[in-house]
Amino acid sequence: MQVYADYHTHTTYSHGRGSIEENVEAALKRGLEAVGIADHGPGHFFIGVRGLPALRKMQREIVRLRKKYLQIKILFGIEANIIDTDGTIDVPLQILPELDILLVGFHKLVKPRNAKALLLGAGNMMAGGCGLRPKLLRALNTRAICLAVQRYPVYAITHPGQQVDIDTAELAAVCARRGTLFEINSSYGKELDGFIKTALPAGVNFVVNSDAHTPERVGDFQEACRLIERLQVPPERVVNLRPNRL
Ligand SMILES: [Zn+2]
Ligand SMILES: [Zn+2]
Repeated sequence: MQVYADYHTHTTYSHGRGSIEENVEAALKRGLEAVGIADHGPGHFFIGVRGLPALRKMQREIVRLRKKYLQIKILFGIEANIIDTDGTIDVPLQILPELDILLVGFHKLVKPRNAKALLLGAGNMMAGGCGLRPKLLRALNTRAICLAVQRYPVYAITHPGQQVDIDTAELAAVCARRGTLFEINSSYGKELDGFIKTALPAGVNFVVNSDAHTPERVGDFQEACRLIERLQVPPERVVNLRPNRL
């Protein structure tokens, strides 16, 4: 099983340990044809990219590196957070059309945009606390992420089902209709099985990513490949497995 692209890697612009260039070099060493720089959106407390100036700086650096490393495609991306119950994401509108790849994932510890989002975020932190019953919490989370998929050109949902409770089948159906991919994240193990198994009948397609936070882990797809074999995910439904190409 050969994966030729890693679209989800972090750098020191959020809480990764390597520079953009170190991730690119690591991707080259692994023989990848494309690497995505997708740091946490600015809405993430403490670790998110520091706003539009930092995103512009990343963009300039990627443009410079593209001239130096002609043999690999370097994608300017982001792992956006959902900051409102209506699916609003934390990507500045000016930068959105300039991204090569938009990933969206649910994370805890995200700056809410208003009181409703604050309540939902607190509910997720406390797993059903704050007066929100688990069933309602799940419905609100699912609605928010499905709306994000409908509102933005989301390439893939990162680690669906992890961190925040959602209805995976419902999200997978919306993603299948919109052409948004489900990520098989290689930083997780068997805990992803239930979510991917649930998503399969919806007809959604998948992308394998490392979610590397160090250059050494860029292009490390071991866990994801194990999951694909374990669950017998049809290879033609994984977009970055040979012989499929974007
Ligand atoms: Zn994430
Ligand atoms: Zn990530």
